[in-house]
Amino acid sequence: MLDYRLDAETEALRKTVQEFAREVIAPQIGEFYERDEFPTQIVRQMGELGLFGLPFPEEYGGGGGTYFDLCVVLEELARVDSSMAITVEAGVSLGAMPIYRFGTEAQKREWLPRLCTGEMLGAFGLTEPGGGSDAGATRTTARLEDGSWVINGSKAFITNSGTDLTGLVTVTAVTGTRPDGGKEISAIIVPSGTPGFTVGQRYSKVGWNASDTRELSFDDCRVPEENLVGERGRGYAQFLSILDEGRIAISALSVGLAQGCVDESVKYAGQREAFGQPIGRNQAVAFMIADMEVRASTARLAYYRAAEKMLRGEPFKREASIAKLYSSEVAMDNARYATQVHGGYGFMNEFPVGRFYRDAKILEIGEGTSEVQRMLIARDLGVG
Ligand SMILES: Cc1cc2nc3c(=O)[nH]c(=O)nc-3n(C[C@H](O)[C@H](O)[C@H](O)COP(=O)(O)OP(=O)(O)OC[C@H]3O[C@@H](n4cnc5c(N)ncnc54)[C@H](O)[C@@H]3O)c2cc1C
Repeated sequence: MLDYRLDAETEALRKTVQEFAREVIAPQIGEFYERDEFPTQIVRQMGELGLFGLPFPEEYGGGGGTYFDLCVVLEELARVDSSMAITVEAGVSLGAMPIYRFGTEAQKREWLPRLCTGEMLGAFGLTEPGGGSDAGATRTTARLEDGSWVINGSKAFITNSGTDLTGLVTVTAVTGTRPDGGKEISAIIVPSGTPGFTVGQRYSKVGWNASDTRELSFDDCRVPEENLVGERGRGYAQFLSILDEGRIAISALSVGLAQGCVDESVKYAGQREAFGQPIGRNQAVAFMIADMEVRASTARLAYYRAAEKMLRGEPFKREASIAKLYSSEVAMDNARYATQVHGGYGFMNEFPVGRFYRDAKILEIGEGTSEVQRMLIARDLGVG
């Protein structure tokens, strides 16, 4: 039976987050964004709302919801602000999820309760300065010595890695050579503050300016052998599967930004007057907004479809790539048109659409670029 209506519980969650985004985030986020500052207090409040624990079982301090609940929440957050949406997305889907999916019982008990309440943020370090799309080209190494992993190397563009709340980063590192001669890549938890682990300055970014992104370096950084996440040599496969899910989350975030563009444009087109009437009375403006709504609502169906397959336990990689590719391009288009509807004010920081415009581009790059998504879809079709 085809039914994409939200059930009562998810709808109540959506409304709560919508209210929070409008009443708490919207009034203050612009200033944090302009100051390039991570709003720790807002993130704590999102933690109190339970947003960081949503898809995890209650026994680990989670909310007992689904990955789809997380996506609906990300959409509502991004409708108002993408920096806070990506902070939750990275904290849950990249920070906590690898430990929940692949960690030992002891790792889950140690880390998940604090990650679920948002009192601690986790990060995920796959990308390196030398490359992100080609994640198998990892150069960071970890060698086992006297019961410890000794890590050397660096990671680039790591979200949530240097905030006041950050407690760990799970990194991929080469731990040996596979029988076929390829690199054996494993995932290892590095707690913040471990000697030899240096967190760099925040990057100066085009968008997502209220979120935290940093370069990390490891110089003979030692962590206990039991910080290995899952099986040795499975790190690459684990991270790829985490990214498959993450694409649905980034799609939801993109739909939120695209819908936020509609919200702001409808409001502005009804208020702004030119030639003696609201600009929305001009078909050229009204059609731009109608097209934005068409794009946002079709992109939403794409991520609902991918999430539906995932929750049913069916293969969902292709749908996740389709959703991520399509909705990130929709977000870019809507940001461009929403800025156009706002005229000169669209170029001013005081209006949210300027922020949407700057935040949209990364959606076509992070968690697999548009080219990578096209490659995956083509491969799944048996071409390319
Ligand atoms: C703000 C921000 C936050 C991020 N957060 C994280 C994080 O938390 N954790 C993390 O691990 N990473 C993170 N990343 C990294 C992000 O996932 C990578 O930037 C992304 O995967 C692309 O990798 P790259 O930057 O090395 O680009 P490259 O891989 O160098 O790609 C450059 C260009 O070449 C194209 N290209 C590459 N290979 C091919 C090919 N075979 N065929 C066709 N085109 C190709 C790409 O599509 C792209 O257009 C973040 C990045 C940013 C900017």
